[in-house]
Amino acid sequence: MIVNFANFRNLVTVKPTGAIKLGVHFVVDGHDELASFRGVTHFHADHISEINKSIKQMLGIIANPATLEVLEVLGYKIPDVIKIPINYGQSVEIEGETISAHKAEHVLGSTQFMVQNKLLDIAYTGDFRSPGKGTEILHPDILIIDATYGNPRFVRPFKDYVEELFSDYVSDALSKGPVQVFAYHGKIQEAMQILRQSKIDAPFIAEGKIFKISKIAEKYGYNIGKLFESKDPSVEQIKKDKWYVEFLHFNRFYERSPDHYAFQLSGWEFDEPVRKIDNRTVRVALSDHADFEETLEYISTSKPRIAIIDGSRNGYAKELSNYISLNLRIRTVIMP
Ligand SMILES: [Zn+2]
Repeated sequence: MIVNFANFRNLVTVKPTGAIKLGVHFVVDGHDELASFRGVTHFHADHISEINKSIKQMLGIIANPATLEVLEVLGYKIPDVIKIPINYGQSVEIEGETISAHKAEHVLGSTQFMVQNKLLDIAYTGDFRSPGKGTEILHPDILIIDATYGNPRFVRPFKDYVEELFSDYVSDALSKGPVQVFAYHGKIQEAMQILRQSKIDAPFIAEGKIFKISKIAEKYGYNIGKLFESKDPSVEQIKKDKWYVEFLHFNRFYERSPDHYAFQLSGWEFDEPVRKIDNRTVRVALSDHADFEETLEYISTSKPRIAIIDGSRNGYAKELSNYISLNLRIRTVIMP
């Protein structure tokens, strides 16, 4: 089919608010007055802006079942009648357009969306890492891609072994005293799973939302193991035993306790996998985003006719766009 690519802007827009309009009826990760359905790639704050407006106005909220459950924990009340849970590989039809969900490795439930109509296939990756492994590489005509680490200097040469290193450090710390891990929602559950896979079987402690999101992760197949809510009566004894890993939100890092070994999980470390902050504190370069190399790998394998770089979120859209145009011979457009 011959498609006039000059007119693709009628079918794809990225708004300054972060809303990504795909096709006629569908918007992802932001609100649009003209769309009747909203897709949510994952529950991070920069992907759920204006979601209460969408909940009020739209006919359906389309997301992975785990994402819908986590949104409730984060305080968003979505009426059952407008919830449209969609698993990887499934699709829904909306007036001549097919919307399908595809796996992204990033946090629990992370989804890429593809919209197919009789003219075009358009896909949005959302946040992802490990293309071709945990993240399915899609092959649309138009690909909208995340540019978080879209600058050539953002490469983690140690990305293949940083998880193992993290487990080794935690294991070593646990032999000396209790451990605290600080990270954002989603990455915490990835960290729990990494430690369990390395046979670290110390009890985990988490409070409130972190505990609830971890239980949802477990329900959807994560290996979380023994996990206690901070207020659980048995936690008092566990704390006396001094052999446990406590998970806390990244923003509470400044409250870290001097009696613990502390691990801060950060995506903004590129020079070394583990950086010592003081005798009991390290920062680990554990990221849930593709680095520059992986971002390019996705685009060069996908080979879209047009790559649209999402310039609405924090990232390096310009640098990524320049690099792709020069090195991959794929037409790129930055939006907005
Ligand atoms: Zn994210």
